[in-house]
Parts: sequence; C-alpha cells; structure tokens
Amino acid sequence: MAETATTTPTDAADPTQPDGAERADPPAGGHSSPSFAKSLFVGELHQDLLTPYPTMARDEQAKVAGLIRSLYDITDEIYDVDRIEQDRWIGDEVIAALGEAGLMGLYVDEEFGGQGLSQTGYCRVSEEFGRIDATLAVVTGVHQSIGFKGIHLFGSDEQKERFLPDLAAGRTLAGFALTEPTTGSDAYDLQTRAEREADGSWRLNGEKRWIGNGNRDVVVCFARSEEHGHVALILTPDMEGFESPFRYDTMGLRGNDLRHLTFTDVRVPPENVLGEVGDGFSIAMNVLNNGRMSLGTGSVGAVKKLIDLTVDRVQNRQQFGQPIGDFELVQEKIAWMTSYLYGLEATSYATTGMMDAGVEDVSLESAMIKVAGTEFLWYAANRAFQLAGGEAYMNDQPYAKILRDIRIFPIFEGANDVLRAFIALSGLKVLGDELDGMGELDLLGAPVRSGGLVLDYVLSKVKRRVAPPRLTHVHPQLRPLAEPVGEQVVRLRESSEKLLRRYGGDVRTKQLHQKRLAHAAMDVTAQVSTLSRMTATMNTSGAEGTATERFIAETYVERAAQRVTRQLDHLERNDDDAMHQIARVAYRRGGSGFELYGA
Ligand SMILES: Cc1cc2nc3c(=O)[nH]c(=O)nc-3n(C[C@H](O)[C@H](O)[C@H](O)COP(=O)(O)OP(=O)(O)OC[C@H]3O[C@@H](n4cnc5c(N)ncnc54)[C@H](O)[C@@H]3O)c2cc1C
Repeated sequence: MAETATTTPTDAADPTQPDGAERADPPAGGHSSPSFAKSLFVGELHQDLLTPYPTMARDEQAKVAGLIRSLYDITDEIYDVDRIEQDRWIGDEVIAALGEAGLMGLYVDEEFGGQGLSQTGYCRVSEEFGRIDATLAVVTGVHQSIGFKGIHLFGSDEQKERFLPDLAAGRTLAGFALTEPTTGSDAYDLQTRAEREADGSWRLNGEKRWIGNGNRDVVVCFARSEEHGHVALILTPDMEGFESPFRYDTMGLRGNDLRHLTFTDVRVPPENVLGEVGDGFSIAMNVLNNGRMSLGTGSVGAVKKLIDLTVDRVQNRQQFGQPIGDFELVQEKIAWMTSYLYGLEATSYATTGMMDAGVEDVSLESAMIKVAGTEFLWYAANRAFQLAGGEAYMNDQPYAKILRDIRIFPIFEGANDVLRAFIALSGLKVLGDELDGMGELDLLGAPVRSGGLVLDYVLSKVKRRVAPPRLTHVHPQLRPLAEPVGEQVVRLRESSEKLLRRYGGDVRTKQLHQKRLAHAAMDVTAQVSTLSRMTATMNTSGAEGTATERFIAETYVERAAQRVTRQLDHLERNDDDAMHQIARVAYRRGGSGFELYGA
C-alpha cells in the first residue's frame, strides 16, 4: 500500500514551531483527540489539532499529482460538456478511462485495486473534478464519496473482496439510496422497511427517490426494521422486485443519472447486510460526513475556475474607456473571491488533515466546510456571472450551466440550515453537559440527529482557563491576528452559556441563534486554520518571499474576526421577533398578501 501518512497536527516534534511558542496542555482523561469545533463551545482552543498545518507525505503528493495529470489528459481528450448535456450521461467511455487511470477508486486499498489515498489525497483530486465540471464531480462523487464509501468503511472482508475491485476500477458504479418521497432532511424517519426472514435473509419493501446511479450495479440502501432498527443493505440489479421505473429530468447536473427506485418483496441475502444490524443510520451519517468534505474541496476547485474565468474577463473587457477590472466595485468582488477562497481552502484541508491524523470526531468540521464551501461557491458564481455581463446569459458561455449545476449543493448531503442547527446544538450539548443542572437537556432531537453523526464527547480534564485560551502555535509575525482568537472563543462560550441558561431545552427551537453560533464557530475554526496554513508557508519559505500570500491570509482572518463579532452581537440585538411575526402573518394570509393598488 502507498505511504499515506500525513504530517499530523498532533506530531510531537514540530519543525514548523516558531521559537518560544508554548504547547497547550494535552487533554487528559484518556481522550486524545477531542473535537476542535465542539471544544470552542466550552471555551477551549485545541490548537494542537490544527497546528502544524497538515500536509501529505511526499510519495502521496507525487501520486496525487500523477492522478491529476491523468485526469486532465482524459478530460482534455474525451470530456465533452455539450455532448454530456445532450446525452444526459457522462459517458461509459469516460467512466472506463477514469477507472483505468485509477480515478474511480481513489481511497480504496491497493489490495482491492485502488490508489490507497488518504482523505486529504482523495479530496485534493476531488477538488480537480470540481474545477473541471460540477457534473463530473457529482458523478464521481456519488460513486466514491457516498456510493461505496460504506462498503470501504464498514464492509466485511468478503464484501470488500466481492465489490471493491470492480468498483475501484470503474467496471461497476455505485449509488447511495437514503432519500424517499416523504423522507428528506429528516433522514432518520425512513419508511422503507426491511424485515428479517426465518432463513436470515431480509425482505425489502418501499421506494427511494433522486438516487444517483440508482439503476447501475451496486446500491447501498438504507431501510428500517420494526424489530431491529435501521439497516444498510447492499443491492444489485439482479434482485427480483428491485426496479427503477423512471429517471428524473433535472435542472442541472444533466449528466448525472438520477433515479426513482421501488422495492417489492426484494429478498436480500444475509451476506449483503452492511455493518451491524441496527447501525444503518449511523453508517449513513458516517458516509455523509465523508461526502461533505469532498463537497467542500470540490467547491474550492470550482471557485478556482470561476476566478480564472473572471480575472481574464475583467482585464480584457473595456467599458468607459478602461478595463472593467479597474473599477473599485469590480475589484471588490475579485478580492472577496480570492481571499475567501484562501480561507476556505485552508479550513477544508485542515479538516481532512484531522481525519487523516485519526481525530475521531470531525463531524462538525466537515459540516462547516460543506456549508461554507457550497454557499461561497454559489455567491462566487453569481458574482462571476454579474461581471461577465449579458454574455454570461448566453448558453454558449459556461456560466448558466455552472449555476444550474451547483444550485443543489447547499441542499443535498444535508441541507445547509439543518447542518447549521447540527453544528450549534452539538456544541451546546457539550457545554450543557458541563454546566450544573443542564446535563439532562434534550438538545439533540430529530433535526440535529439527521444533520450528522452525534458522537459522544468526552470533556477534557484540562483545567478550564479563566483567561482566554491563547493561540500560540503561529508564526511570531502573525501573533497580532492570533491574539483576538482566544477572546472570541471565550465570548462564544459565554454567549452559548447565556443562551442555555435563558432558554434551557427550548434553545432547540431558537434556530436564528443557532445559526449565529454556528457561523461564529465556523469563522473561529477558519481563522485558526488560515493562520496555521500561513505559518507553515512562512516557516517553509521565509517571511519575505510570502508577503503577498500573507496579506491575503491576514485580510481573510481580519474579516472572519469581524464576522464573529457581528454574529455574537446579533444574539443580543436583532429583530428575530419581527421575523417570526411576519412569517406567521404570511402563513395566515396564505401568501404575501398586500397589493399596492388592490386586486
Ligand atoms: C440532484 C440531486 C441529487 C441527489 N442525489 C441523492 C442521492 O444520490 N442519494 C440520496 O439518498 N439522495 C439524493 N438526493 C436527495 C437530497 O439528499 C435531498 O434533496 C436532501 O436531503 C433534502 O431533502 P428534501 O429535498 O426532501 O428537502 P426537505 O427536507 O423537504 O427540506 C427543504 C428545505 O427545508 C428546510 N428545512 C428542512 N428541515 C429543516 C430544519 N430542521 N430546520 C431548518 N430548515 C429546515 C431547508 O431549507 C431545506 O433545504 C438528491 C437530490 C437531488 C436534487
């Protein structure tokens, strides 16, 4: 197997550590890797998890570079966006070529014919899928990020041997079947039923909708048993009673084959049960945790392409006797895209690095980069469209397809608002467990549970500091920006505690506050990740040669700090009541309701 070890954030010897920086006390209590993001809610800053900035081992870097070169060789030659839109399929020849080049089984162990990449390596290649075309990113993502990820993570040796070699080679394609007509965001509430028969097999009944690759070769399907809870079953199209009656006609991602599936007394043999019976829901959430990371890095790739397109356009398009790129309002858009991209990229790969380092719980961080990445991509595409002017509206330009393709990103693999609630309530739960008399609060009801995997959090036994925790593992020249981070963490904890004391368990319904806390935690995580990335760059390449990059990083960090302040200020000063009342008025009146000139 390839050497996939990363330089982990928890390495004891830290070559990038600036002189004089202190190490925080390692958490005691037998829990070596607390969640970075959850810790923020209790006022802790586990900087060791994000510093030094993770990197890939040299041989994995070389392997990833080779895979990316092959990807471009293939797509330059045979990836024809117009044909794919017309055929409504990416093309069997594209799949075959990607498979042959090793691009369909990136993280699969070499013994099963895969490339054995780490999460960071996998996401780095996924970034390029996203840079080339969102449809390519989704079709390959449905297959690897979610389709057969469950088999890789939870499959028995026999299942891995049976399925992974063909899947990794692209000879077969996989789908992930969770969504149903009445079950979307509340994925726990599955209606598809699987009941165990006397011979140990399972009888499956129900239907699924919007399943990518649903009519292909291997579908991991989630169902519920009255007696045994959730189960994950591996389906193959030869199973009697398993049908795909129709394909959906979609606004974008036209080359992604999206299917309706029905199950009528499908007999699933016992050897096709994935993982433990009863663990089906946690398997699904675990897989989605992984999928969310590549949506974050796929968004990084897609924005890089948008910036390339837009920079070229604004420098060459002349209006009012000058390139439009010289106007301040144009520059502001380009600068925002460039600096936010820097921070998003830093946070995304800090998260994949934590996973590679064996940090058990990165559920909040992967939700964070999914939310931040997919929304940044949407707004960046909108700005790129604006700067391309009327030309962007023409179908021979790439912009319309980009907008159509990416609009689903903030909705699938966990709707972003559900993930915001998940981030905030998971953090508040940890804090509630610590506060006297609040440990019993039921904060993790259905919406949060369906946001992601709710993992037990063992509070570290580190004596909580009264003084703000200090972010010390940064380059000395970055310290002025690191100082305020500790204050923000303290304020996040204090604000969270205040909300818990004010609302108790009802904080579950306070989604506007949840959103503010989630965004504050996201922006603290992003600042630490960005300062860590910049520190690594300065320590490797010297402070002088990296001044421009540092300027971009610092601008991002300053803006993220301002956003944290704003979000936490709004916990106290807001017009939430007015928003509730106006929504209720609209519901009561059955619409907008006020005509200026009468009906
Ligand atoms: C192109 C495409 C590909 C897909 N591929 C797959 C696939 O391969 N496999 C699969 O299983 N599924 C797939 N899906 C389904 C996708 O995962 C679901 O659309 C998604 O989970 C959201 O469910 P829903 O659409 O039913 O939205 P709903 O659950 O009806 O939610 C709609 C909106 O309501 C709001 N909302 C819902 N709950 C809350 C809450 N608790 N708090 C605040 N706001 C809330 C959010 O704004 C949300 O966006 C795909 C969908 C599409 C369109």
